[in-house]
Parts: sequence; structure tokens; C-alpha cells
Amino acid sequence: MSAERHKTGAAGESTVDIAALRARYRDERDRRLRAEGKAQYVEVTGNFGRYLDDPWADPGFAREAVSEQTEVLIVGGGFGGLLCGARLREAGIDDFRIVEKAADFGGTWYWNRYPGAACDTESYIYLPLLEETGYMPVRKYARAPEIYEHSRRIGRHFGLYERTLFQTVISRMEWQEQEGRWLVETDRGDRIRARFVILAGGPLSRPKLPGIPGIESFEGHSFHTSRWDYGYTGGSADGGLTGLADKRVGIIGTGATAVQCVPYLGRSATGSGAGRLDRIARRDPAGAAAPGPACDLDGGGAEGHRAGRLPQDG
Ligand SMILES: Cc1cc2nc3c(=O)[nH]c(=O)nc-3n(C[C@H](O)[C@H](O)[C@H](O)COP(=O)(O)OP(=O)(O)OC[C@H]3O[C@@H](n4cnc5c(N)ncnc54)[C@H](O)[C@@H]3O)c2cc1C
Repeated sequence: MSAERHKTGAAGESTVDIAALRARYRDERDRRLRAEGKAQYVEVTGNFGRYLDDPWADPGFAREAVSEQTEVLIVGGGFGGLLCGARLREAGIDDFRIVEKAADFGGTWYWNRYPGAACDTESYIYLPLLEETGYMPVRKYARAPEIYEHSRRIGRHFGLYERTLFQTVISRMEWQEQEGRWLVETDRGDRIRARFVILAGGPLSRPKLPGIPGIESFEGHSFHTSRWDYGYTGGSADGGLTGLADKRVGIIGTGATAVQCVPYLGRSATGSGAGRLDRIARRDPAGAAAPGPACDLDGGGAEGHRAGRLPQDG
């Protein structure tokens, strides 16, 4: 049988044209690829810098700068950093330091606390170090709070908290040939010399904003799903977003994140009064993978955010 023909009808004839299917998928992909690549996004700097603010951290946090020498420095306390730290401990290497921008472990699962957030890989496969920590996930597809809590469990189990500088961003690294070490500097004035540096900063911890005309002048309340503003929406990861009851809400993006949180938004924003939810889509898988901010469209510039003005819409 040809590799290109898997399925046969009653008379043995092929019913699936694999080559045509491949061509169709290629065509769909090409229609969604954008020539400007990453340039389609607005840089999260200047006025947009607030999209990076950590809603979960203590803004008054302060500590003395650290000046030290260590064998291994790990950038990031998500699954990557946690696994590295855990395996180093198992190998009997205790001389390491983790540096994490957030106020706790979890990475993706620290940042993404939007309603309905969950993994879409089976949790028995996805959650690391289950046997080592003796934990059995409650759900087949674990919700974000359970994954975040498991990250913290790993931190406690392997004694990683005492080895970690939280709310600290690595700002510079320089290889110092004579010493045979990296000099690593942070935004809190730390200077750490490390023989090895492990980069586990992850690709998704920095929000991307779509370059929609009008985004600079939009005056309504807006935030990114990876920095969900429960102070504004009310409720929790389980919903009950009562603050949206009389709001008109737009969500930009139709990827996995939107699929997860739209039901909660819909329930709350259409629940009563003037509440309403608009989903704003663009035919762009890169945009879908990098979910945009959820916006309250009641403010000025709302119409500019409607689907009709989205780049390459259609
Ligand atoms: C909403 C969402 C759902 C997902 N669901 C799934 C899923 O179901 N299955 C799956 O396989 N994958 C999923 N992913 C992908 C997920 O990101 C990875 O599975 C995994 O969690 C990545 O771990 P990481 O440690 O590599 O990166 P991250 O979790 O991103 O952690 C990196 C950490 O490094 C920190 N950091 C970065 N730069 C610096 C710096 N300069 N200084 C200090 N700290 C820094 C960041 O603050 C962050 O906490 C999902 C991603 C998202 C956003």
C-alpha cells in the first residue's frame, strides 16, 4: 500500500488523498504566516510597560544585594529551572543559585492565572517529578492553580526556596576568561560569579501585544491574560467575574488561552445589565499562540478595537 494512501473504501479504493490534504494544510499555514514576523507585535515598553507588572508580587519587596560565587546559576524558576535544581540536588550538587523574576516558582503557571487556565497535555505526563514528590494530580488535565501548587511542592521538596533569589531579573552576563566564570548581574545589584549558567528563561513569560491600530490610544481598562487583573474583574480562576457584569469586554486572540477563558468571560460579561463579550479574531496562528490582552471596551477608542480594524483580518 502506498504511504500516501491510508484509508480504503469497501472496494479497497483510497478515500483519503494524503497529498491533497498536505497541500491544503500548507496552504492554510501560508495564509496565516505574516511577512513581518515578530515585527507585527508592539514592544512591551514605555506606556505598555505596565503589561509586564507582576500583580502577584509584593511591590515593596526589598533585600540586600548579593555578592557571591557559585558552581551553577539557573535563570528561571519554571519547570525548566525547577527540574535543573531538583536534578542537581539529586546528584549531590548543592552549590547552585536560581534567579527568578517572579515572586515564586511556576514560571508559566505563576504568571498565567486567568479563569479556566489549565494544561492541555495529560497532567500525568505534563507535571514533572510526580513520583519524586509523591503527588497524584487531581485532574487528568490539571487546572493552573494545581500546577502552580505542584511547582511550589517541587521547590519545597528539593529545598530550592533557600537557593533562589525571587523578584530578581538577570540583566547582564559576561564570561570572564581569567577566572573561568560567568559574572552575572541583576536588577537588584547582585553580582554572582558562576562556573556554569543554565538558561531556563522560557519563551512565553513575556507578553506580546498585537500591533492593532489604536492600541496606543485605547483608554479602556486592558490587561494581558498572563497578568489577569482580578482587582478589576473580581472573581478567581474558577470564575465569578462580577466586576465585568455591566462591562463590554473584548478578547483579542482565539488560541488555546481564549478557548479556556472565553466561557468564563461570556458567563460574566453577558450575565446582566449592559454586559457583553466580543471575541476579536485574526487569522494568524502566531497571534493565537500569544494571546492578547482582555480589554474592557467601554473606554474611548473602543470601536478602533473592533474586528474590522485588525491587521490582515480576512
Ligand atoms: C497558558 C499556557 C498554557 C500552556 N499549556 C501547556 C500544556 O498544556 N502542555 C505543554 O507541554 N506546554 C504548555 N505550555 C508551555 C509551557 O510554557 C511549558 O510547558 C513550560 O511550563 C515552560 O517551562 P520553562 O521553565 O521552560 O519556562 P517558563 O515556565 O516560562 O519559566 C521561565 C521563567 O523564567 C523567568 N525568567 C525569564 N527571564 C528571566 C530573567 N532574565 N531573569 C530572571 N528570571 C527570568 C520567567 O519569569 C519565568 O518564570 C503552556 C504555556 C502557556 C503560556
